[in-house]
Amino acid sequence: MTGRTHIMGGLAATTVAATLTDLDPVWLIFAGAIGGLVPDICHSGSKIGRRFPILSKLINSIFGHRTFTHSLLFLLLVRFLLSLVTNNTSFITGIMLGMASHFLLDSMTKQGIKLLYPVNITVRFPLTTRTGGAVENIVLLALTIVTLYFGKDIVMNG
Ligand SMILES: [Zn+2]
Repeated sequence: MTGRTHIMGGLAATTVAATLTDLDPVWLIFAGAIGGLVPDICHSGSKIGRRFPILSKLINSIFGHRTFTHSLLFLLLVRFLLSLVTNNTSFITGIMLGMASHFLLDSMTKQGIKLLYPVNITVRFPLTTRTGGAVENIVLLALTIVTLYFGKDIVMNG
């Protein structure tokens, strides 16, 4: 999936979460957009990879694309690293949800993800789409509608 779909995935997941929890919606949703991009640090052409080119190339050369950074192990590692630098639960939860939405979206593509890395099992949905295709645009539209629908409640309820 492309970067904008992943940003919107993170926004959709955290906007829904904001309506269901007492977490700070601003921190939650802001972090959701970032978390949606974090796993693609393994890919130097991605939005986040271009921002951190050396780190990105390093991770890519060690692990390859969509392996370690698209796994539960990496999710837990990021969770741990964040807990060392901040106790902002809303921010940390937003990053986690954004990353989880990224895993879910990439599971809809043919390549799938190595969710259980280092166990070499490819996780993907039975029906898959290709990155940048027409189906991705429909997914992007659906995510945008979810974000606006739930976002409206947050704005109106303060
Ligand atoms: Zn990815």
